[in-house]
Amino acid sequence: MSSSPESSSGRWFEDIPLPGMDACPQPRPAARRSRPYDSTLPPTSAAIAAFYSRVVRAPGNGCHIWTGAISDGYGRITWRQGGVSRTEYAHRFALLVAGELTDGAIGEHRCNEPLCVRLDPDHLIASTQSANLLYAVACGRTGIIRNTTERHDRHARSLAVREAVSGGWNAKAYAQACGNTAPLDEPPLF
Ligand SMILES: [Zn+2]
Repeated sequence: MSSSPESSSGRWFEDIPLPGMDACPQPRPAARRSRPYDSTLPPTSAAIAAFYSRVVRAPGNGCHIWTGAISDGYGRITWRQGGVSRTEYAHRFALLVAGELTDGAIGEHRCNEPLCVRLDPDHLIASTQSANLLYAVACGRTGIIRNTTERHDRHARSLAVREAVSGGWNAKAYAQACGNTAPLDEPPLF
């Protein structure tokens, strides 16, 4: 065992409790990560390329659907550089790349598609929590979904949407995944 601090991986100072005090407190499980986490890590060019390779675009003014990882019904991306990693919601990543994810900003879906990453006033904009809640109320959404069933429904819907467009844009499969299972070629019932 070396006596040199420099050659002992920085661990030489551990486990030396002071009288009446505990030794180093154990980190909580949530704080244990395989790699250091940096919530300020900028998007790398590789991450941006990987991100857009997983986006399927509906034609015209349609949504741009994230088809990568999904967490709690929303897209999620993790990237790494220099030994640190960062994870963001996919729609927040799109705002981050555009330089619109300033302090306190949140992503607001004007199209009500949780997987949409299209920066557009009709789809995804940078907003504030209070403005987002007002818009959600106006749309009949609750904004913050506290109900476990609703959250599960959103997650299941997002998984279905991702599956529907995984091979490229498919309007019929997308509509079905969204819950619009009425045949498109039949008139609506009154
Ligand atoms: Zn959209």
